[in-house]
Amino acid sequence: MSNINSDLALFNELVEALLNEEEKNPVADRIEADKLYDSIDLSLNESAMIDDEFKTVLRDVLISTPKTATNLFFNQLFGGRQGKAVLGDLLAVMLNNSMYTYKVAGPQVGIEQEIIRQSCDLIGYGSQSNGTFPTGGSMSNYMALIMARDVKDPSCKLEGMRNPLVVYTSVESHYSNAKNVSFAGIGRNNIRYIQADSTGRMIPEKLEEQIIKDLEDGCIPTYVNVTAGTTVLGAFDPIDKIADITEKHGIWLHVDGAYCGSIIFSEKYKHLLKGMERSDSFSYNAHKMIGTPMTCSIILVKDKKHLHSSFSNDADYLYQTDGDDFNLGKTSFQCGRRNDALKFWTLWKSVGTKGLRQIVDQQFDLADVAREYVSNHPDYTLYSFEDSISICFNYKNIDPTTLCTVLYEHQITVVGFGSFNEDTFIRLVTINATNSKEDILNFFNVMEEFVEKNPQVLTKSLSFS
Ligand SMILES: *Cc1c(COP(=O)(O)O)cnc(C)c1O
Repeated sequence: MSNINSDLALFNELVEALLNEEEKNPVADRIEADKLYDSIDLSLNESAMIDDEFKTVLRDVLISTPKTATNLFFNQLFGGRQGKAVLGDLLAVMLNNSMYTYKVAGPQVGIEQEIIRQSCDLIGYGSQSNGTFPTGGSMSNYMALIMARDVKDPSCKLEGMRNPLVVYTSVESHYSNAKNVSFAGIGRNNIRYIQADSTGRMIPEKLEEQIIKDLEDGCIPTYVNVTAGTTVLGAFDPIDKIADITEKHGIWLHVDGAYCGSIIFSEKYKHLLKGMERSDSFSYNAHKMIGTPMTCSIILVKDKKHLHSSFSNDADYLYQTDGDDFNLGKTSFQCGRRNDALKFWTLWKSVGTKGLRQIVDQQFDLADVAREYVSNHPDYTLYSFEDSISICFNYKNIDPTTLCTVLYEHQITVVGFGSFNEDTFIRLVTINATNSKEDILNFFNVMEEFVEKNPQVLTKSLSFS
């Protein structure tokens, strides 16, 4: 069987090739989905593959996989590569612990708890708080919802759902909310989508109106999800005003900060989370703004007893030594659980909290550059607002979906589109903190050059309502 040292040598060789390729071609050659199996040998066969062929296939796969770490990738709510976090993740793979017990995770337990403790302090949650690392932001929202459900309807855990629970989120919130109410047994028809204002923020008055109506109808308001950084516009729901309402009516308040909750690290921008300490739970994805490899999501709970009451289960075969505080499986969704904390910790340890603050603030600085560029150029229309790292715009009335597609097909840049109310637009996300101001200006430059050389994209123009 193979020897790990030669595999690691091969790893280094392949990574070097990948980094060179990223330098040369920041946007990967796209393989049409229907030609995929003809383009690369992805087949699994009865016989072993000899080393040279194996290496060639691996290189082919690496080279043709979309490149998310380069300065021309703006498509998603993640991007770039923080070296110290990559280092931590590689070490986590080598260690291959599972995070459920102190017996098998040892100091990794303390690493996870240190991140949770410091994050809770930044939110202002107090001494009863704790948290865990779910598989991602969708799962973080799910865990929050389950805790809210169990608080409101404790019999549900044994008897199943018998009461008419309802939950609230904004129309601009993440789609995981809809799936989660279905998984939780509450049902998709019992989610209330609250209207957002002209800047994409949930309207507190509309929320309270709906809660009062539901109470009159005999429903049980259970959970309010507010978003810190909505998926399209990057808007921040007004947590403080909404907390007035959830406190008054005794409803669990969760802050979905998957996209932009990491601004807890920013002196300059954390005012956008005013009132966050009044929430019951708060989640953020370090693989988005902080730039760790996927995935690294953290849910924090003001009172840890809810984590225990909803997620612990006795398992004598597993929990044989050490106290609950060191056996993290007592408060997690999974049993075996990947070590997502180490990559965040290696980054945090090496750059300090100050370094994380710079990573977060840099994204807003880049967003300012992009917003200013768009505002100052008459060929552009801007659709987004201050204090957001999503810059939404259209260029020369070109259909944004067409433009995004051709830019991608021609390996110019990878950027996506979104919609808000009646408008559809290109959404540039300045989440890669390793980018510079020049990289952002370069994005506009390569796009404009492409349009100039390919005027036919102009013909399918936007119909403004
Ligand atoms: C990305 C995102 C999620 C989902 O997080 P995953 O880690 O992709 O599951 C949830 N909510 C918001 C606001 C997001 O931006």
